[in-house]
Amino acid sequence: MKEKITVFGSFVVDLMGRTPHLPMPGQTVKGSFFKQGAGGKGFNQGIAAHKAGGNVAMITKLGRDSMANVALDAMDDVGMSKEFLFFNDEVVTGIALILVDENTSQNEIVIVPGACATITDSDIATVEQRIRESAYVLLQLEVNQDANEKVARLAKENGVRVIINTAPYQPVSDEFLRGTYLVTPNEVEAEELTGVHVSDLASADRAAKVLLDKGVQNVLITLGGQGVYVHTPEGSEIIPAYKVEAIDTTGAGDAFNGGLLTALAEGKTLRQAACFANALAAISVQRIGTTPSMPTRAEVDAFLEEHGGIQ
Ligand code: ADP
Repeated sequence: MKEKITVFGSFVVDLMGRTPHLPMPGQTVKGSFFKQGAGGKGFNQGIAAHKAGGNVAMITKLGRDSMANVALDAMDDVGMSKEFLFFNDEVVTGIALILVDENTSQNEIVIVPGACATITDSDIATVEQRIRESAYVLLQLEVNQDANEKVARLAKENGVRVIINTAPYQPVSDEFLRGTYLVTPNEVEAEELTGVHVSDLASADRAAKVLLDKGVQNVLITLGGQGVYVHTPEGSEIIPAYKVEAIDTTGAGDAFNGGLLTALAEGKTLRQAACFANALAAISVQRIGTTPSMPTRAEVDAFLEEHGGIQ
């Protein structure tokens, strides 16, 4: 029996349009392409963890509108439990308006978090049992922060290991970080969190120290195509990324965090889990999109076998 894991976080519908150029204020531009898909950091990470074989409770909040169906359909498509969803009757399901310049790939994004920023204490009370039973709870910073703080406190009080993916960055309290099993910024967020510019092992060690001094137990900094920095009480190192042809790195961090969570719940060490997540993310960057690009467990295992397994 695999250990239970919980992803608590955002859901938004990605509404992506490509245009010959981004509109100026007041201007209307005819677009050339539109795509709608399930998104939100929490949801992406939940799908990644589930497809990688984890026993995942996805906790998020939706509106009572047609946009909510995008989440429900995506969960049905991958056979994920909808038991842990909250609904808000008055607020819309979150959306992200993404405009992409088809010539330069520059983008403009507006996120309206909607329902997933309205998670209440009484919502959390309905999933308290599941949080208590989890081996790990994974959080990001895209829902209302008071809800994150409540879930983190509840988890820590019950000996559940908390992982915080500090994305998108916003300042957080020291209390939120204290006693956290693992914090997983990317290199930009690591600098925002610690004030240390991360460019190599030595600077990553300095950034990690700032977080360890705040009572975080382990630190992992994703370094894009460079790989991942891992700091545990046993030491620190940079595990290089797999050399692949990256086509779309949107959601690479989400793929990584979801894969990491599943691997940890299977009893892998943090270092082994980081290797597994590195492989999972390497597959996802070779595909377009976020949730559709998350690989299945069979795909990750095949990739690892082809590349000599977990080193
Ligand atoms: P984010 O999407 O949060 O900015 P990163 O860009 O740091 O996250 O990427 C997360 C992980 O995805 C990396 O640690 C690595 O495992 C993988 N990854 C990202 N870009 C590449 C790439 N070009 N080649 C191989 N793996 C990649």
